[in-house]
Amino acid sequence: MATGKILLYYAFTPLSDPKAVQLWQRELCESLNLRGRILISTHGINGTVGGDIDDCKAYIKRTREYPAFNRMQFKWSEGGAEDFPKLSVKVRDEIVAFGAPNELKVDENGVVGGGVHLKPAQVNELVESRGDEVVFFDGRNAMEAQIGKFKDAIVPDVETTHDFIAEIESGKYDDLKDKPVVTYCTGGIRCEILSSLMINRGFKEVYQIDGGIVRYGEQFGNKGLWEGSLYVFDKRMHMEFGEDYKRVGHCIHCDTPTNKFEHCINEDECRELVLMCPDCYANVATRHCKREACAEMAADFAEQGIDPLINS
Ligand SMILES: [Zn+2]
Ligand SMILES: [Zn+2]
Repeated sequence: MATGKILLYYAFTPLSDPKAVQLWQRELCESLNLRGRILISTHGINGTVGGDIDDCKAYIKRTREYPAFNRMQFKWSEGGAEDFPKLSVKVRDEIVAFGAPNELKVDENGVVGGGVHLKPAQVNELVESRGDEVVFFDGRNAMEAQIGKFKDAIVPDVETTHDFIAEIESGKYDDLKDKPVVTYCTGGIRCEILSSLMINRGFKEVYQIDGGIVRYGEQFGNKGLWEGSLYVFDKRMHMEFGEDYKRVGHCIHCDTPTNKFEHCINEDECRELVLMCPDCYANVATRHCKREACAEMAADFAEQGIDPLINS
């Protein structure tokens, strides 16, 4: 049996004809039986695709033949085509939706005016030399940090990347404007943009981690400044850097350590993903996000002895 793999990659580079890149990429992926998601804009490309290992290698080779992508880095991850429902290749205003397509500036070397890139070891060096002055600033959605984050990191109150601009303009973080701020996210792409938005708004010393949490975790496992599990956007939903990880997440009902997000029972109206332990999720009465309407719905199902996972 062929072994599958998942590729994660992005490049910030000017693309004058994103539509042409879209057509080429879709055809390339289809010819190699890759599935996943690719977003393309005039600022670059952001993709996650899965497939057979040899097809992934062929994909890298062919994609790098395009001059704008010839230095693009690809991260390999466990998984395969089966981790994605289909292939989706789209042109958008932004490859990450911050709601600032006209503010972002890119050239052949990437984002213009972004934070200073730090390699994982340089992150540790910065903390060793500057101590408590250094602030980690989570560049992900707040929910992702529930199962893991950098030590003592600030987790902004954002549901999606769209909320970041209002959040950093709110004044809540003005005391960080003169401090060394290390932004971080899963693979680094969100911080390429976030760090530039922060610098534009008066944050004077902003850093970003090369390759994000993924690369930092690969290098330091659970022995560095990262604590807990990493939320990932595929079927796995979380990953760890070794078995000795810190149990950061807890079931919202019984407080049992867990790193698994589940859907609330009220799926038609409530899109909430919440941390639930296997027992509380298995029990209809506790398969909810704790909002009143959802808790009531769960109680009704329980009273009638109906389990929508089984009876639907
Ligand atoms: Zn529980
Ligand atoms: Zn709910």
